[in-house]
Amino acid sequence: TSATNISCEPGREQLARVHMKYWSQTFIPTLKESPADAEIASHKLLLRAGLVRKLGGGLYTYMPAGLRVVQKISQLCREEMDREGAIELAMPFIHPVENWVDGPRWSAAREIMYRVDHAGAGKGRAKEPEYVLGPTHEEVITPLVKTEITSYRDLPKNFYQIGTKFRNEIRPRYGLMRAREFIMKDAYSFDVNDEAAIVSYNKMKRAYTAFFTRCGLKTIAVEADTGVMGGSFSHEFMVPAPVGDDDIVYCDASGYSANREKATSGIVPKDLADAAAAGVLEEFATPGIVTIAALAGAPYSVAPDQQFKTLVYMGDGKPFLVVLRGCDELEEAKLGALGFQLWRAATPEEIEPVMGAKPGSLGTVRGTIKNPGALAGIFADHAIRLVGNGTTGANQDGFHLRNVNVARDLELTKFGDFRRVREGEPDPKSGQPLKIARAIEVGHVFKLGTKYSEKFGAVYTDDQKQSHPMVMGCYGIGISRTLQAVVEQSNDADGIIWPWQVAPWQVLVVNLDPADAAATELCLKLAQAAESAGADVLIDDRAERPGVKFKDADLIGLPLRLTVGGRGLKEGIFEFKWRASKEVRKVAIAEAEGTIMAAVKEAARQA
Ligand code: ATP
Ligand code: MG
Repeated sequence: TSATNISCEPGREQLARVHMKYWSQTFIPTLKESPADAEIASHKLLLRAGLVRKLGGGLYTYMPAGLRVVQKISQLCREEMDREGAIELAMPFIHPVENWVDGPRWSAAREIMYRVDHAGAGKGRAKEPEYVLGPTHEEVITPLVKTEITSYRDLPKNFYQIGTKFRNEIRPRYGLMRAREFIMKDAYSFDVNDEAAIVSYNKMKRAYTAFFTRCGLKTIAVEADTGVMGGSFSHEFMVPAPVGDDDIVYCDASGYSANREKATSGIVPKDLADAAAAGVLEEFATPGIVTIAALAGAPYSVAPDQQFKTLVYMGDGKPFLVVLRGCDELEEAKLGALGFQLWRAATPEEIEPVMGAKPGSLGTVRGTIKNPGALAGIFADHAIRLVGNGTTGANQDGFHLRNVNVARDLELTKFGDFRRVREGEPDPKSGQPLKIARAIEVGHVFKLGTKYSEKFGAVYTDDQKQSHPMVMGCYGIGISRTLQAVVEQSNDADGIIWPWQVAPWQVLVVNLDPADAAATELCLKLAQAAESAGADVLIDDRAERPGVKFKDADLIGLPLRLTVGGRGLKEGIFEFKWRASKEVRKVAIAEAEGTIMAAVKEAARQA
């Protein structure tokens, strides 16, 4: 640009030196109404504030302002990972299917994976597809580490990346919350032993806590399901919200909190002795009675907590039984502790040949199961000890057995915790009633152990030349889900209220008279003051009515709004307003720089 050009356009000269954006030169397509298919507040606001646009179910474009938030959240995540010694790399999104077939969870994971058919697939090749789109990266990082790291001297290592994941979710919904394609930070730690792995685990827990705090997001770390692993080295970072897909169980008195999938309560006393037999085992006819509720009704009147409920499941193709109290529900995730890769409820066709009866008349009294040899096990929930003597199906359609004593009569492989905890049950530690709330999972830390390292042969040699599998951990943060969780947690009737550190821009300078040179000049001055104090600034220079500008300002929710123009400008003042507050301050232009710089520095300090 020539010098004449600059001189005839006020403000252009300064523009060349600063990074602030003009609304007219970026693209923020705000909407007055929210599209009909957006159900929850955050999804509506992401669309209305012009942050994302939908391509298809679970597929979204990050619009310019949305992309800025993604980048800011990613950067905060990167800083906290780096601070704890994790090392960034980037792995391919497309994986050869062999990596998954050779791994420990192919049968469980294949349903969620998008498969990419190779051009030559089918021509005399194996039936399996050649490539899959990565839903996560254990199957890539473990073989990599196996070839690259062989000595204890090179451990510990924790590798992470921030990138796109692909999952064929059964029910993609709520915008970025459960998408088919989403951005995740995933990390994988490798250690010489359990003790060292726990150190790595705790570092990640600390990084996550710091990260979510910097995002302005209130999270609770809850104990999570570990499948067969057991122990408490799995925590999910949860954002309490009625629209969440998870339930968290917690007790304020003891500080206990766990995902419902893993939660236990203290309803069964630890020292509970088996009840003495109440009487002689007795069969009775129950024609047409196939539910707990029906047996509880007249003329039988057997209370649900005096009944045994027998469920048939298939675990990796083999049937197994779960016995609960009639009043209890199975928590399906708890079946993970049994070691099956895949499990599901059995169909009536699968049940009858094994049990000898249809659902509704099933039981586990010794000698009544038609084909016990077919079973992979009979697993009883601890709480059936509270029944002591009860009623169960006779494995003969239309018949039940009463005076069934747990210790004397039931055929059981082992006891475990399989029931779903209910609100109000006593916390195991404090005895106080447990509470349950909905929550959104934004992050997960997990001590994996040696499941992957053994399968892929990721071993190291110690100082005695002995070889051991590396002890691994994996750690995920949903970057795009976090973005939406922030909006879900921080909004009001008018729009988003961005926390300082993740706002697409932190300061919005609203020019009410963009045609007026004095207004435009003052806007630049305010923007420069904010920017020199470290803020990202957006100037609303659009030729829109003030009402439109204020509505949009509230909707896109930048933390600090400075308004220039109209009568105020003639009086030598501008307006200063935090998005989170209703208060509008009038500030003298003479005090602009000092006021703005102090405010920006204070906001950054608090964030
Ligand atoms: P969920 O139970 O919600 O399906 P997950 O247990 O499958 O989550 P992980 O495999 O542990 O999740 O992934 C790590 C993080 O990635 C999760 O904590 C979540 O924040 C995010 N995430 C997982 N699936 C999705 C998805 N479909 N869309 C957006 N984010 C997701
Ligand atoms: Mg999932």
